[in-house]
Amino acid sequence: MARVGNSIIKGIETKEVINLLNRAYADEWLAYYQYYIEEKVVKGIMKDAAIAELQEHAADELRHADMLAQRILQLGGTPILNPKEWFVHSNCGYEEPKNFDILAILEDAIKGEQCAIRTYSELVEFTRNKDIVTYDIVSQILADEVEHEEDLVALQEDIQEFIKQIRGN
Ligand code: FE
Ligand code: FE
Ligand code: MG
Repeated sequence: MARVGNSIIKGIETKEVINLLNRAYADEWLAYYQYYIEEKVVKGIMKDAAIAELQEHAADELRHADMLAQRILQLGGTPILNPKEWFVHSNCGYEEPKNFDILAILEDAIKGEQCAIRTYSELVEFTRNKDIVTYDIVSQILADEVEHEEDLVALQEDIQEFIKQIRGN
């Protein structure tokens, strides 16, 4: 544990930071798996574009999980060790893909990103001016989640536009 490094945390409990980071850590693993499986089952129009985007997002979520695990350890905590616990501690849960159509898959993924944005905004607010290192990490992740939402919404709009053109209206 980084002793001097952690002594600079002011005005919030390190235990509480670890707890919130572990919740986000659970979210990231579930988000990773959601993208991992969506990319495999997705069907329909322009699915190649969606597959590329979903694969990229899966890699990002796994990288986020890694950033959080490193920080939890630095703070003297332990990242969640049992996947069963992901469901207990997750903020955003897991949206099982039931309809494999590309627009339904994108809708599920957008919901997940919007929840992630809310979660990281709260973490940014919680750590601002109090735990600068965690603040920096959660700010970087927040920027990625905002980009994820935008990418998915843009893709959804492109597909809807394309469907309209095909139908000739
Ligand atoms: Fe993420
Ligand atoms: Fe994301
Ligand atoms: Mg993207």
